[in-house]
This record gives sequence, structure tokens and C-alpha cells, in this order.
Amino acid sequence: MQDILDDITAELLAREDRGTVAQYIPELATVDAQQFGISVALADGRTFSAGSASTLFSVQSISKVFTLTIALGKLGDAVWSRVGREPSGDPFNSIVQLEHENGKPRNPFINAGAIAIVDAIMMGHQPRETLAEILQFVRFIANDSSIGIDETVARSELKTGDRNASLAHFMASFGRLKHPVDKVLGTYFHHCSISMTCEQLAQAGLFLVADGVNPSTGVRVVSAQRARRINSLMMMCGHYDGSGEFAYRVGLPGKSGVGGGILAIAPGKGSIAVWSPGLDHIGNSKLGTEALEMLVHKTGWSVFGH
Ligand code: GLU
Repeated sequence: MQDILDDITAELLAREDRGTVAQYIPELATVDAQQFGISVALADGRTFSAGSASTLFSVQSISKVFTLTIALGKLGDAVWSRVGREPSGDPFNSIVQLEHENGKPRNPFINAGAIAIVDAIMMGHQPRETLAEILQFVRFIANDSSIGIDETVARSELKTGDRNASLAHFMASFGRLKHPVDKVLGTYFHHCSISMTCEQLAQAGLFLVADGVNPSTGVRVVSAQRARRINSLMMMCGHYDGSGEFAYRVGLPGKSGVGGGILAIAPGKGSIAVWSPGLDHIGNSKLGTEALEMLVHKTGWSVFGH
């Protein structure tokens, strides 16, 4: 595995076209596009890394896997009255389908869906308390108490978050948010601004590899059925309107973020975190996707076989 990761890293670092760093969040636009890191945590507890795997980056939408997991723990199937489970086929920040579906987002991983999920988690609590709960959960699944939120990124998102504010107000107009829009949005921007390294993120995904149990700690995080269902949502909806393309090229449940990270799960085998800040036209990491494509080619890890 170390040789595979070293080969992938060497090949990708030589690439000229690395995509474009997200521009609409000013703080993310300052990140150096030349970086690349990858980390694989195997179900047997071994971990392998290459490139800038210990550099912190903004996990952005990858955090939506964790907030969905928390919401399912708190609300169970009632979550599905708040969001759907279908791929949207539209951009991550699209508003169009909300109008057709009475303000109900198509899935928990598009922006509108994640905003509805954080509203569901709040349950009358203040943003600070909800954020503490989210952070505590992420630290627990990654088995790392040093994980934190990058306040500068969160403030940057808040300042330029008109589209997300529109989504939230639009849902509120259908009576779909139970808390004030500004509090829900503040919580959403902050959980998107969690910073993690590839090494930490690969650890955090391990419970989805091993039927809901983190094999490093032996602690059950969710039931086997829930882990399977979260994986299937990641497969169908984890890359916005590029989810079909990602399934075609990589064939693993995965969740991307505009910070350039991708968390991919090879059930029974390993949790893979890859990061390269340059994005393709849809907003998914360009080299990150290529790295995963190369990894499944070399390992045969795609859930669809070789
Ligand atoms: N915080 C970002 C936003 O709301 C998340 C988007 C993403 O990572 O895809 O725009």
C-alpha cells in the first residue's frame, strides 16, 4: 500500500493541470493549489500516507457525513421527513428543486439538505452547544481530541454566504426550519469549517468501513445497517451533480468538499482521505478524484469489482 500511495503521489504532483481552488469563499481562495496528500486507514488498523497527509485543510462538505450520522442517532428515521434520499443532479448550492418539493431538500449532502440537517440536530440548543456536540463526535470517531474549527474560514463563509442564506430563508418560508435562520447558518458555516488532516479524516471514516464499528478502538459508532445506508447515500449523492461520474470512475461511496478533500470508503477494506485544493468545474477535487481512480485500479477496491 505504501508503494501504491507513493506512486500515485509522484505521478499527480507532476501534473500541470490541478484544477482551480474554490473562489467563492475568500479564505479558501488563498490556499496553495500545488498541495496533495493521501492517507489510507485499513480495517486491520494499519495506516499509510503520502504527500501532505498531515497538513490541515478545510473539510467543508465532508462534515455533512458526520452531521447526518449525528442526526440519524438523534432522530432516527424521522430525519427523512426533513430531507430526501435522492441524488439531485443539480449543483451543490442549487435552489430550483426546493420550490418543486415544498422546501424539502433532495438529500442531506447538498447545501440545502445539510442546512436542514443542522437545524434538526439543534433541537432547541444554542449554536455553540450544537457545535460542541458535532466537534465532540468528530473527535470521537477520529480518536483525536485536537480537531478544531477554523474561525477565519467560518467568518469568511458567513460574509459571502448569500446563496446559503437564500436557501435557508427559502426553506424557512415553507416552515421547514425550527430555529432562527441566522443561528442555523452560523452553525452550518462553522461545521463546514472544521479543519482536519488526511490522516485524521481517514481515521474518522473507519466506522463506515467495518459495519459501524471503529476497528482501531473497537467501539461501535452506529449499527451495521446504518453504516450501510450512510455509505449508499455517499455513493448516490456525495459528489453533487458529479456523483454519477464519481461512481463511474471510482466506484466507492465518497464525499467531497470544496476545500479539495474527499473521504472515500471501501467497505471491509479501508477508509481513504485525499486532499488537493484544485477543483474541477463541478467543485470536486480534480487530483483527489484521479488519485482515487488510480487507487481502485491498483487495488481492485471498487464495490463494483475490478
Ligand atoms: N461550506 C460550503 C458551502 O456552503 C460547503 C460546500 C461544499 O463543500 O461543497 O458553500
